[in-house]
Amino acid sequence: MIMARILIVEDEKAINTLIKKNLELVGHTCVSAFDGEAAFDEMEKTVFDLILLDIMLPKLDGFQVIQEITEDIPIIFITARGTVHDRIAGLKLGADDYIVKPFDMLELQARIESVLRRTHKADKLFTWGDVSVDLGSRQVFINNALVDFSPKEFLLIEALIINRNIALSREKLLEIAWGYDYEGDTRTVDVHIHSIRKKLGWEDMIKTVYKLGYRLEAKL
Ligand code: CA
Repeated sequence: MIMARILIVEDEKAINTLIKKNLELVGHTCVSAFDGEAAFDEMEKTVFDLILLDIMLPKLDGFQVIQEITEDIPIIFITARGTVHDRIAGLKLGADDYIVKPFDMLELQARIESVLRRTHKADKLFTWGDVSVDLGSRQVFINNALVDFSPKEFLLIEALIINRNIALSREKLLEIAWGYDYEGDTRTVDVHIHSIRKKLGWEDMIKTVYKLGYRLEAKL
């Protein structure tokens, strides 16, 4: 399984650290830079698969940084300035996506995963023991035999994999698989997780997090 090397360019130390911690939990390798010039220092030392780039930065701002990057590296802008103008400016300059502060870590993980997949820097196939999950074709195999999952079950499996080693609340999982408007009971999530655990033999891998939800414990 290939994980990505990610450069986090963000001058707010608390946010930078939080992003780093979360991305490292899912297995990415991260380097933090706190201003635009430091970003270039890091890029000289390491070849990155992805850059998370804040716009308002000391020394060189995000727009200046992206214009000076000559390598073909996917970039996701992190911006507090959520105006349409700034979003368009960022995408015009070649950013692959943008995310507006304050953002949900799960949303950031999903966007990173999607950009990495689109730029072929991430594997679509996740394998643990006998189980292989192909996030591209949305198929699950046990010992190379296809196992049937409902679309909701697959959405839950996908969310657990993308956010592996991070606890997901029942409410969040309900929202991911059933949508914002769904007013069902979070026990629905429990029923589906129970089914997924049984079908995959993931009784030990999907941990119940007390009073919160679930976490896929997946060593890389
Ligand atoms: Ca900033």
